[in-house]
Amino acid sequence: MSTVNAIAAPSATDPLVRTTVERRAVGPRDVLIEIRYAGICHSDIHTVRGEWGKVPYPLTVGHEIVGQVTEVGAEVTRHSVGDRVGVGCMVNSCRECDNCKAGQEQYCLNGNVGTYAGTDRDGTVTQGGYSTHIVVDEDFVLRVPEAIPYETAAPLLCAGITTYSPLAHWKAGPGRNVAVVGMGGLGHMGVKIAAAMGAEVTVLSQTLGKKDDGLAFGAKHYYATSDPATFKELANTFDLIINTVSAPIDMGAYLRMLRLDGTLVAVGAPPEPLPVQVFSLFGARRSFAGSSIGGIAETQEMLDFCAEHGIAPQVEVISADAVNEAYERVLKSDVRYRFVIDIDTLR
Ligand code: NAP
Ligand code: ZN
Ligand code: ZN
Repeated sequence: MSTVNAIAAPSATDPLVRTTVERRAVGPRDVLIEIRYAGICHSDIHTVRGEWGKVPYPLTVGHEIVGQVTEVGAEVTRHSVGDRVGVGCMVNSCRECDNCKAGQEQYCLNGNVGTYAGTDRDGTVTQGGYSTHIVVDEDFVLRVPEAIPYETAAPLLCAGITTYSPLAHWKAGPGRNVAVVGMGGLGHMGVKIAAAMGAEVTVLSQTLGKKDDGLAFGAKHYYATSDPATFKELANTFDLIINTVSAPIDMGAYLRMLRLDGTLVAVGAPPEPLPVQVFSLFGARRSFAGSSIGGIAETQEMLDFCAEHGIAPQVEVISADAVNEAYERVLKSDVRYRFVIDIDTLR
């Protein structure tokens, strides 16, 4: 066991504070990672504020982790000391169920082990990436290609895979009209990835304030959802809509933007229900779906895809002491487009 520096939420309402967490001794199949950067995902905020249900406090969140391998267990074959690696939203799964065997560990029928607030195989509560080091089973550690700089790589481990996976599954590509709702951390990655896949991309944002950025990220069109004319003009337009919004929005209004056989995929995770009138589905045989992160092999595929296409998140690097302020800015949609903690400021 070792004690390492971290930032943790003491409760649902207190600001995050500097503290320490315990990391298990490096087991035969474990990798010790010296963390360099950790992204701030809106899920971190939903979690520490108890919006998704009870969590064990104090809790260190963070599931967009990149760093360097500094020690490996005796049986480790996939990673070596010095490798640039990443860890996303899960650190283990049962490996035996149908979904794990199909490489869909995120849908493990026995529940994957979350990078934070999960129950690890030794019975302890997992603690996330706002910390200087982490010990993870080698099978849940990704290779970060050299082409992606450390400081921009971290958000790929959640925001990148969470948008890549549904875009790949629902076949974003040439000839397909794809809309991304909400251009925050996930949304801006969705735009970049969908454009790189060859789809025609539209951003549906609350205002036109980030239009220039959206077009630079690869979108062809950019509309404000605060303008009711948007919904009239874009009725029956999209093959695929990825909703990344962290708050409840009127699903019917967005479903009616799907053309025949189109699919609206929820990846945004507000705690409130999102009611759907069946008639908004009937109108064009539309589907309303959901998607959770991505499997380990697919996450590696996404990292390699981003390296090959020169895609990286746009980040604002902050010090460990600026995390509470960053949370407030995320909540105000004042993020361009992902905060990333420089973990050297925690050492
Ligand atoms: P984020 O950076 O805060 O982005 C959310 C965006 O949604 C904002 O930038 C804003 O975009 C829009 N938005 C926020 N409040 C809104 C409102 N009241 N009405 C309309 N639009 C609003 O958050 P994120 O880190 O990308 O995460 C987004 C959501 O995905 C969160 O709920 C998170 O928990 C969830 N998530 C799910 C998965 C999964 O596996 N399914 C994985 C990661 C995250 P504009 O300013 O452009 O309007
Ligand atoms: Zn996340
Ligand atoms: Zn499983």
